[in-house]
Amino acid sequence: MQRSIDGKRVAVIGFGRSGAAAAKLAMKMGAREVVMQDKRDAVELGDDKVLELARDGIRPELGGHKAQTLLESDVIVLSPGVPKLEAVDAAEKAGVDVVSEIEFASWFIKGEYIAVTGTNGKSTVTTLIGEIVKASGVPTFVGGNLGMPLSEAVGTPAAEDGGALVVELSSYQLERTKTVPFRVAVLLNVTPDHLDRYGTLAAYASAKQRIFLSQTSRDFAVVPATDPAMVAMASAGGAPVQTYGGPQGDVRVDGDSIVDRWGARYPRSLLKIRGSHNVENAMAAVLAARLLGAGESAVREGLEKFEGLPHRMQFVAEEDGISYFNDSKATNVAAAVKALEGVEPGRRVVLVAGGRDKGGSYGPMRPLLEKKGRALVLVGEATELMKAQLEDLVPVRHADDMFDAVRIARGCARKGDVVLLAPACSSLDMFENYEERGRVFSAAVKALVGTSRQEEDL
Ligand code: ADP
Repeated sequence: MQRSIDGKRVAVIGFGRSGAAAAKLAMKMGAREVVMQDKRDAVELGDDKVLELARDGIRPELGGHKAQTLLESDVIVLSPGVPKLEAVDAAEKAGVDVVSEIEFASWFIKGEYIAVTGTNGKSTVTTLIGEIVKASGVPTFVGGNLGMPLSEAVGTPAAEDGGALVVELSSYQLERTKTVPFRVAVLLNVTPDHLDRYGTLAAYASAKQRIFLSQTSRDFAVVPATDPAMVAMASAGGAPVQTYGGPQGDVRVDGDSIVDRWGARYPRSLLKIRGSHNVENAMAAVLAARLLGAGESAVREGLEKFEGLPHRMQFVAEEDGISYFNDSKATNVAAAVKALEGVEPGRRVVLVAGGRDKGGSYGPMRPLLEKKGRALVLVGEATELMKAQLEDLVPVRHADDMFDAVRIARGCARKGDVVLLAPACSSLDMFENYEERGRVFSAAVKALVGTSRQEEDL
């Protein structure tokens, strides 16, 4: 919904990339005052970054959250991941509008949205949809939870009439998103994750379901045909439900091709991304892009061009018939299961896993580890928890750090095996983020390959 903030007071909470973009946008759109609050102080944030804010006319209020400033604001913009704050609740009760950065940016955007959420596959599907829509010749923005914040789309051709915004949304971003008119909203899956923040799966799922709640009958809700829970969640919104996968999906697999209900066929061999989960992701992307009007040749071009994102089943090296894959982005159990499923049939896996536990069960990994596992190499905080739940299936080894883990994994692997990093945990116990974890893994693999290999006794 278009809205003006001319002459209004705006407070932005959370000085990350989205927060900074929202604060700059508020200045550009004529706010009377823009305040940036963060619990970190200038030293923690870096003086140069704070100076830059001030240069843009934004008033920094750091080292805590001043309740009075929030009470006097007209709008509070929350960065993703900002925890529940009493001062924000109090301001909201007093009538201040509290919105996500996505909602805020949307006030200044006229283009049409494809929004993507789910526990796993968001970035892959968002990027692939972006490739297809771009190939159809429409000015396209791709971002949100991935890459550029939506606020940075404002003022670009994609944000104007006739443009397209393909946005990845996390459950955090959806919590305060109320009126954004998603033309196509995609929910890929909901499996246990972030239970440390939400407490229950139901609470987490209801944040995800918000993606459908601002839709109307002229929009489309996209979910997997094979998951009745997702279909039920989509049906609660105002838009007709369209499905992918299964025998009846609007886009589905037929023999060696993906087919859509408009009669087009795309050979699976076009896809460069691996694993059955990526066929699902491709079907979701095809359906969403087609619903926004992309033609058959744009779909073909997008599918062919997309090589996958780093740290998602990324091939690292091959030596002695042993292949090394980096799926550091498998930060939860369901993603690790998909990564294991994605390993070619007939190959055994030395799984490198562990990190910070997220409060779920590792049980869903058991059948695949039993079927395909050669060994499990554990590193990080969750080691004992994972060991207790999985050690009856495969030999388990402990590693001190990622380099050690790769060395041990290499020793456990036999010709034809796959060494796979799919941690099923967050990286935050030992790394800055999953990217750093994936980089360290890949660097360790590259450093070791070519040196002599000490086989482990399993
Ligand atoms: P997100 O942005 O939701 O984290 P990504 O596309 O980055 O999703 O993929 C994250 C991880 O989730 C991948 O490394 C892969 O292991 C797994 N994954 C990808 N697609 C799916 C899917 N459709 N279902 C389950 N797991 C998936």
